[in-house]
Amino acid sequence: MTLSSISTTLDQLPPACDDIQFNYCKTVACANFSRTDPDLYVLQNSNLQRPVLICRECGAFPPVLSNYDVVAEKQRLKLEQNSGLAACSNNDCLHNGLPVLTNRQYYHAFGFSGERQRYRCKACHHTFVDPWSSSNNKHQLQQKLLAYLFTGYTVREICRRLDMNPKTFYDQLNNIAARCRHQLTIFDARLGKQSQDRQLATDLTPLQPQSNNGVLWIATAEVNSGYVISQHVNYQTQSATTSVTHHDAYCNGTRFITPHNNHYPQSAPPLSQGLLAHIDTTYRQILARKNMENPLSGQVTIHYPTKGCLIRPQYTVYSHFLYLRELLNQNIPTLAVFMPQETLLRSACLSVFIDRINNHTIDPLYVVEDQQWQHGQQIEKIDIVLMGWWRDRWAFSRNKSANKGICHLGGNKKNQQHWLTIATHHAATAYQQRFYDQFNHMVNEPRRKLRPASLLPLLDIYRAWHNLCHQNKAGITPAQTLGLMSSPMTLEQLLQ
Ligand SMILES: [Zn+2]
Ligand SMILES: [Zn+2]
Repeated sequence: MTLSSISTTLDQLPPACDDIQFNYCKTVACANFSRTDPDLYVLQNSNLQRPVLICRECGAFPPVLSNYDVVAEKQRLKLEQNSGLAACSNNDCLHNGLPVLTNRQYYHAFGFSGERQRYRCKACHHTFVDPWSSSNNKHQLQQKLLAYLFTGYTVREICRRLDMNPKTFYDQLNNIAARCRHQLTIFDARLGKQSQDRQLATDLTPLQPQSNNGVLWIATAEVNSGYVISQHVNYQTQSATTSVTHHDAYCNGTRFITPHNNHYPQSAPPLSQGLLAHIDTTYRQILARKNMENPLSGQVTIHYPTKGCLIRPQYTVYSHFLYLRELLNQNIPTLAVFMPQETLLRSACLSVFIDRINNHTIDPLYVVEDQQWQHGQQIEKIDIVLMGWWRDRWAFSRNKSANKGICHLGGNKKNQQHWLTIATHHAATAYQQRFYDQFNHMVNEPRRKLRPASLLPLLDIYRAWHNLCHQNKAGITPAQTLGLMSSPMTLEQLLQ
């Protein structure tokens, strides 16, 4: 990409894709909020590394983003979720990649191939077998493998105990992961049919906290049950065919990050500071990024993975919310989304659910709380403080030695007490923390620091186990709490 071609296109917004245009003012109280007329903005192109829209009304400066790449990224997330499921495999067909499980209407049952169900695509008449329709003759071996993995054995130790080589281990792990995706697809689809009010918790965190490999992991869970609805990482195992050194929202394929390393000296651990100071510092760090919606464009160290490709996190996060919007029932009366203070999460959630913002059927909230904060306790005194460049309106409460702050990102000033009592992104945060604890030996193993690919099958397996098998103190799984199944699934049932 040459500079001249950038300057010739920078007088307009990046083109819309599939009716999606995410470049507009994201200040909810501004008259230009969600409006896509280019005349309402100044396109700042003097600093090519930081192209932004400047809103003529409120002065906010949202970074620009390629709509094409958001859509392409969502396609990638969908393909990964569906990979290994029975679906039409004809690349030229309309039904290509659409799983039979959730798209029965596109296929005919078409006899059997041995024990396995055969299907025929109604559009192209291509036939294929469902790999999951016969019994799993490896299920005993796979059960043992998982049992060892969940009790903290290393890959080397598991291979020794099961008398297999590492290649076989990973083949089995990938097979288990595909089976888990198959099971999850069934329950996710049931969840997608439900239409009652929903409260969601979202968090974004490094996949391997000690590796600085640039792979971030976003997870969204239903708040009350803990059911993890979806999770994604900004990394793919294949290398990219195109990649650009600097983000350029006018160039297709700009979501792929060119391999590079960044080194910033480790900053001193933050002094113990109050919640207010902490929130203020976070706003400053976000403003200092080259691109406010890209956490990796701040002063962060990056050791690029040895294989595969990193994706600019804003594309994965916007696509994560698009994925959620497609999965969840459109008739849900009200939706609440609780998240940590992160501009990327805010922008993506607001942009994807813009219709709900405009008709006030979504409550997106930042939630920041001290560790000692006890969830659900009575709120007494509330302090309102306007914070950050955006003058975001935060409501704070203090109880004994702990503080909690919330900020309604949809501009609703009512119900502060209610939100201070119930809002928390704990369901997502705790899920991710348990993953680190459970698979500590794999997450932090030095040799895996630059090899995140080996953790990807583990994510699918962990989500399936967490949603379908893991019981709380009352013996109930998240899927049961949501009424998606009547009894917990055993590991054996998961693998059959
Ligand atoms: Zn504005
Ligand atoms: Zn087809």
